[in-house]
Amino acid sequence: MEYLSVSAAQRCVLESVAKLGVETVRLEHSLGRVLAEDIRANRDLPPYDVSAMDGFAVRSADLAGSVIDLEVVEDIKAGDMPAVTVQAGQCARIMTGAPVPQGADAVVRVEDTEALSDGRVRFVKQAPPGHDIRQRGEGMRNGDVVLAAGAEITPGVAGVLATVKCAQFQVYRRPSVAILSTGNELEGMDEPVDPDKIPDANSYALMAQVQALGIAPVLLGIARDDPVELARYLRQGLEYDVLLVSGGTSVGVHDYVRPTVEALDVQMKFWRVAMKPGHPLAFGLLERPDGTKALVFGLPGNPVSSMVCFEEFVLPALRSIMGHTHLYRRTVCARLAHPVKMRPGRTEFVRVLLSREGDGYVATSTGNQSSGALLSMARADGLLVVSSDSTGLAAGETVSVQLLDGAAFQDQAGFRE
Ligand code: AMP
Ligand code: MG
Repeated sequence: MEYLSVSAAQRCVLESVAKLGVETVRLEHSLGRVLAEDIRANRDLPPYDVSAMDGFAVRSADLAGSVIDLEVVEDIKAGDMPAVTVQAGQCARIMTGAPVPQGADAVVRVEDTEALSDGRVRFVKQAPPGHDIRQRGEGMRNGDVVLAAGAEITPGVAGVLATVKCAQFQVYRRPSVAILSTGNELEGMDEPVDPDKIPDANSYALMAQVQALGIAPVLLGIARDDPVELARYLRQGLEYDVLLVSGGTSVGVHDYVRPTVEALDVQMKFWRVAMKPGHPLAFGLLERPDGTKALVFGLPGNPVSSMVCFEEFVLPALRSIMGHTHLYRRTVCARLAHPVKMRPGRTEFVRVLLSREGDGYVATSTGNQSSGALLSMARADGLLVVSSDSTGLAAGETVSVQLLDGAAFQDQAGFRE
């Protein structure tokens, strides 16, 4: 089998995934979920013309002169209903969000007025009709779709849902995910430290990557490199919507994952991708008699490779299943701080730190790029993606960096006031 390009492999994975139906959630528990229904406004907001400022509601035409003194006929707070019509020569004191009274057609903020000793108010500026008034329905109109199916519940969206009194709504179901590590050399978290063994990092790194998407995965543990034991674990893992297996996907004589999943009726779609770090990466599909499916990702054993493969293939797949329309990590442009050597023929993912410099970012390698160097992944803000036809990058070149979880934060506020 040929090596697939990263994008061809991504396409192959995404063609195999489907959403899992919908469920109802309460607003309090919906952060990060994806709406499976359109949401409409149930009233006009604001419900009437309201003041955008603390100030005075006036008749715009009254302010045509240079200095105007007006009589205050009413005091209107947010939540009040005005009782008096503003006549020529009059105004009403009004607070932000309070309804504009009959007769008035503009608001002048309090800072542009002067209180006179006789109780009247002096206006030194003109105000055109509509000035500092928020029109009825300006925010949303009764019956309009304010959120479309496919929208992710973010804090802002939660505010909109509360505004339209949507206490519960339909979202797409989340997939169940199981994680399995394989290898005779691996030592589980609860086993005593044995200097000859390798601690199982992948179960927990993958666990956290899954959790960051809002899914609680199940850790199946460690399967030894033994076809019978592996089959037992894999059978268990295939009960889930998505199974992530790390290690044992290569072509070594003790790499049993591919033949064992195939023996369990999983149809392998690919097992080689032209990327570094990354290959060997296997992907297969189990179609169950009831029509449901399990996706199986055979991830490389090297901890960095398994995490990078998660980023490129598992993450978009899980997001697609969850109903997201934006499947990929955000990429930003950065200036490269140093040259990067490349052997063409495969897409490379270089772990980098991002720092602000002027109006942009500078990308610097986190150091050792060996696929076993998990510490360099732990420090990274992003993955610098070097295309497969590149023969190397020079210092100062503009490059594209995929942001990782945690890259949303930086050490300085980073704006000019
Ligand atoms: P494999 O893909 O099974 O050939 O493993 C490649 C390398 O990754 C080997 O050095 C393994 O010891 C290491 N490795 C495999 N699984 C894990 C794991 N769960 N945690 C840490 N290292 C692992
Ligand atoms: Mg192994």
